[in-house]
Amino acid sequence: MRGGEPVVVEALKVRALPEGSCDRLLEFLRLYRDAVQMVVNRVWGIDEGLSKKKLHRLFYNDLVKLGFRAHHAKEVYLYARSLVESARGNGGRKPVLRRLSARVDRYDYRLDLDSMVLTLKLHNGYEVRLRLVTSRGRVERFRGWGNYELVVKYDDGELWVSIYFRRAVKPLKPRTVMAIDLNFDNVTLAIFALSGRLLKLKRFKTPHRRILTHRIWIERIQGRYPRSWRYIKGVRRAIERHGERVRSISWDYAHKLGELVAELALKHRSVVVLEDLEKLRENGRRDKKFNKRLGLWFYRRVQFCVEYEARERNLEVVKVNPRGTSSKCPRCGGGLLEDGYRVLRCGRCGFAGDRDVVATLNLYRRYMSKYPRCGGLGVPPNAPEPDEVPSGMRGNGDEAMTIKPYEPI
Ligand SMILES: [Zn+2]
Repeated sequence: MRGGEPVVVEALKVRALPEGSCDRLLEFLRLYRDAVQMVVNRVWGIDEGLSKKKLHRLFYNDLVKLGFRAHHAKEVYLYARSLVESARGNGGRKPVLRRLSARVDRYDYRLDLDSMVLTLKLHNGYEVRLRLVTSRGRVERFRGWGNYELVVKYDDGELWVSIYFRRAVKPLKPRTVMAIDLNFDNVTLAIFALSGRLLKLKRFKTPHRRILTHRIWIERIQGRYPRSWRYIKGVRRAIERHGERVRSISWDYAHKLGELVAELALKHRSVVVLEDLEKLRENGRRDKKFNKRLGLWFYRRVQFCVEYEARERNLEVVKVNPRGTSSKCPRCGGGLLEDGYRVLRCGRCGFAGDRDVVATLNLYRRYMSKYPRCGGLGVPPNAPEPDEVPSGMRGNGDEAMTIKPYEPI
């Protein structure tokens, strides 16, 4: 289980001067960039979601052979994956890296705030010492904070370092549990009391159909100009415009939803329970739940905003394995069968419920079984009847962007 207590993250960006020559560092940055590009090129041809495990299997050995340390390798393939996913999400041009920058894990550097010296561990066992050029006051405020990652950049003859500091904040003691289920059409949010009573149920439409429309346009244009589209300015512009729309629709939605959800969670003092998308990837069953064409980037973006906004409000965020949450009975664990529009019914005990509500119930139960508090487990005594639910789904798709919640069911 990942996630956890609320944290505040801040970046300190400073100029850095190498002690002695910076040839090795530049060599490292070039090697790093080319390695990211190599992974991007290979991942680009693979038409499926790649879990961390799989990335590790595919690339770890090759990267280590290039001279990288273990955590360099991890940063390289994860960064490459995020580049590919956001490029796909935004309109489909393969990223080409030009700038020299590298993300470095805390295992691969030493930071001494007293002497303002940063020691970076590079490829093939090399090290470089950098002096941070900044005032003591700017650094002093991060004393006592942890730092976990940094980015080194070489830009126009200058070296820049951004160090990411974080500080844990004491979380508010939760009084309720908010479970959030994401799927193609909507985001379902349920708030449960610790006793298991369902307090609130809300559903938000996703902007997926609008995103998909832009994606289809992009594919159509690309199909009409096979191979040559990226060399024709007008065509490239048209594709970029659609990509731009996809980007703004999805970020806009994620920000608004994140704030709305976090405000609601704060009002109810909820611990926020999300699906662990990494696990979903490993389960290899995302196709059933999410649209393959869109992939997971959209959900990750939404989760990122929800998590960020919740932690900022001192709320705890927890991720649980979503495996089986939409196929198992929340009462007895039996298999669920479809029984009409969006309704699932248990063949064993007869429980019936709306598909998305079932998923939130299961997320809630999974959270409670991992973190038993005072409440007992079980189906909330006031779980909605299955036939009450579809009425909550009415409404037209254009409302989605204003993120008006559907009427509570
Ligand atoms: Zn059952």
